Amino acid sequence: MSFGLPPSALAWRAKVRRFVDEELIPHEVEAEMSGGELAPALLQRHEALAIGLGLARMDAPRRHGGLELPLIDQVAAAEQIGRVTNALGWCYPEAQSWMFEACDAGQIERFVLPMMRGERHFCYAITEEFAGSDVSEIATTATPDGDDVLISGEKWHVTSENLADVILVQARIGGDGGQALFFVEKGAPGIAVKRSPAYSHTYRHHHPILAFDRVRVPQANLIGPRDAGMTFAYAWFRRERLMIAARCCGAMERLVEETAAFARARRVGGEALIDKQLIAAMLADSLVDLQAARLITYEAAAAHDAGLDLKTLHARCSIAKLFASEAAGRVADRCVQVFGGRGYMRENVAERFWRELRVDRIWEGASEIQRLIIANALAKRGVDGTIGGT
Ligand SMILES: Cc1cc2nc3c(=O)[nH]c(=O)nc-3n(C[C@H](O)[C@H](O)[C@H](O)COP(=O)(O)OP(=O)(O)OC[C@H]3O[C@@H](n4cnc5c(N)ncnc54)[C@H](O)[C@@H]3O)c2cc1C
Repeated sequence: MSFGLPPSALAWRAKVRRFVDEELIPHEVEAEMSGGELAPALLQRHEALAIGLGLARMDAPRRHGGLELPLIDQVAAAEQIGRVTNALGWCYPEAQSWMFEACDAGQIERFVLPMMRGERHFCYAITEEFAGSDVSEIATTATPDGDDVLISGEKWHVTSENLADVILVQARIGGDGGQALFFVEKGAPGIAVKRSPAYSHTYRHHHPILAFDRVRVPQANLIGPRDAGMTFAYAWFRRERLMIAARCCGAMERLVEETAAFARARRVGGEALIDKQLIAAMLADSLVDLQAARLITYEAAAAHDAGLDLKTLHARCSIAKLFASEAAGRVADRCVQVFGGRGYMRENVAERFWRELRVDRIWEGASEIQRLIIANALAKRGVDGTIGGT
């Protein structure tokens, strides 16, 4: 894509691409065949290299040792991470700017900076059995008890809990119904893994159901001021949604490249598969999906860096996530088809992406929720107010 990417974004693109191509992609099939696991020394190497590249501190402020990169540079890096399957790209912790705004100095020192250095690892426990898309239904409580709160409830799909030592738990404080996020040490008494279900993908990051039974947590671990609720969550969602869109673009690029290469080499009825018009059409549609998703995603990142108002940006990030995740699903499905029987083998990149990309239409706000956000912006601010004039 030549949509005027700044030199810094192109440089990030190049260095993360090299890391992904040389260090991560070669281990995908091994990870797939071993339940997502790789040798501990290799995993440590991946994390050290990623942290060395600066991936863990791209979004962190300079005053805390971060790189404070423009979002367009971060999107360029995330797109490359999206090119690898089996979550091998999730090899580094990420200190996000909202954390430095929401956390106090003590929390930054105890939790956020060690995370940025790769010394601590977080997971997020928000969703519950009856509260997913609508977090206002959250039933987990944080009951004040002296200088502490007692957290009780059950959390579902807690990604990376098996690799984390800190859980960010969202709970309802006392009886006032307000919600808040707390840092909870994973080893705290009263936390139990109720069940760790198997999911479609083959990741070493598991997503267990966690039970919290009167888990004692210092009130000092409350993230953000007592009465500020989850205001920082909007910044968090915007960034996550844009990064999902970026990773989906990376996945589509890899899929189109590998599938086109296969279709050029594979001969059917005396000619290359890519010369069969039905196959060529699937590849053309996939390239168009990639190009459109990239333009939407990078444009939203550029709008963010240009300081567009936050409400408009919120809808723009939803548009990017919705389009890119749905496009990636279409592309993966077509690529499996072009590969034929090979596309159904777990050693095939299209087969893995076909399973792995499905969740991008579900987490961080399912497609239906993104459509509601976009339609709501349209109703309130019109076309120009949502996506800008021509
Ligand atoms: C692999 C995986 C990892 C995850 N990791 C985490 C994690 O680390 N931490 C965490 O807290 N959560 C995590 N989640 C949870 C994820 O964010 C939720 O699954 C998601 O928000 C959807 O919630 P739900 O599953 O309860 O679906 P529901 O909210 O029950 O929705 C079911 C369906 O109804 C639709 N729907 C819901 N409301 C509306 C509406 N108003 N109008 C129209 N349609 C609607 C949804 O789009 C969906 O299609 C993870 C999920 C998965 C699958």
